[in-house]
Amino acid sequence: MQYIADLDGMVVVTNPSSVSQIVAKRAIIMAIEGGVEVLGVIENMSGYVCPKCSKVCYPMLHGGGEKLAKELEVPFLGRVPLDPSISSSSDIGAPVVYSHPDSVVAGVITGIADEIEQKVSGAKS
Ligand SMILES: [Zn+2]
Repeated sequence: MQYIADLDGMVVVTNPSSVSQIVAKRAIIMAIEGGVEVLGVIENMSGYVCPKCSKVCYPMLHGGGEKLAKELEVPFLGRVPLDPSISSSSDIGAPVVYSHPDSVVAGVITGIADEIEQKVSGAKS
């Protein structure tokens, strides 16, 4: 396996499906065996943001990303819910954190990014 030079670590993104978690688990084990720090696991497409009240709802299973992180003793970074503004923004080349900075998903993504930044900058200082 070939790694990127000066790699700070790896972020593993999974979704609530068990198939995705199997793939994510393999990736985490591969990183650990290769001596790459796993910065954390993100559960993507975890619930959705209600367009009426902006609450995050979970019509299907969720929590698999957190369970996987606990099982493999790596950090869990958070759950990113589905929100139509993510895809509509991406399609026009504007990340949702810029196009909808006050949205629930932008808050979640920014929080995760801040946590990753702290881990990476802490490792270098
Ligand atoms: Zn609602």
